[in-house]
Amino acid sequence: MMLWNLFDPLWLAFAVPGLLLGIWAQIKLHHAYGKYSRVAVESGMTGAEAARRILNDADLNNVPVEEVGGHLSDHYDPTKRALFLSSENFHGRTVAAVGVAAHESGHALQHQAAYGLFNARMALVPMTQFASMAYMGIFFAGFIFRSAFPTFIWIAVGLFAVMTLFQLVTLPVEYDASRRAKVQLFRLGLVREDERAGVSKVLDAAALTYVAALVSSVLQLLYLLTLARDSRR
Ligand SMILES: [Zn+2]
Repeated sequence: MMLWNLFDPLWLAFAVPGLLLGIWAQIKLHHAYGKYSRVAVESGMTGAEAARRILNDADLNNVPVEEVGGHLSDHYDPTKRALFLSSENFHGRTVAAVGVAAHESGHALQHQAAYGLFNARMALVPMTQFASMAYMGIFFAGFIFRSAFPTFIWIAVGLFAVMTLFQLVTLPVEYDASRRAKVQLFRLGLVREDERAGVSKVLDAAALTYVAALVSSVLQLLYLLTLARDSRR
């Protein structure tokens, strides 16, 4: 039994839709971010300043806003309780920069509010890291010893299910962070009414990449389940 066969038409049938959706999401994000990172924000604020305002307003003065290398590498680190913005969003005085900075601040607000799904996602991180590492090992072991140990496929299914669960929990956390971001940006007057649509377009496009990742994961899991079911025959 071939567990992972790139030339298996069934594998292609399960992989291609997720792959296409992923590419489409990346193109959409590239366009939206590209467009709104050239639109200056009326307030003249940088992403870092906007994040600082949102955090301070929520009494999160102790959460630092730091600059980090890379493109769209922006993230909130719950273990460090710190916000990291890529250089272009840290210094950028654009609708895209302020939108992304507010989204990452949204994660800090979720952490502060002990938002259930945010906590669940955090709790899943170590297990997911283990699962993705172990999955790689099983991938090779399953390939080499596929005839001797057909149960490898069930271990692969279990590990992949953990990774898929992580993606499933991530999705609403991302949408909620964007929702919180938009509320705060508007409430604190950091973006004007006519800048709202631009912020939404950038954040919706970013969220779509998480939708694509989840769809890919679910399809891959279904493929593994199909293989596992066939291996029992
Ligand atoms: Zn996020």
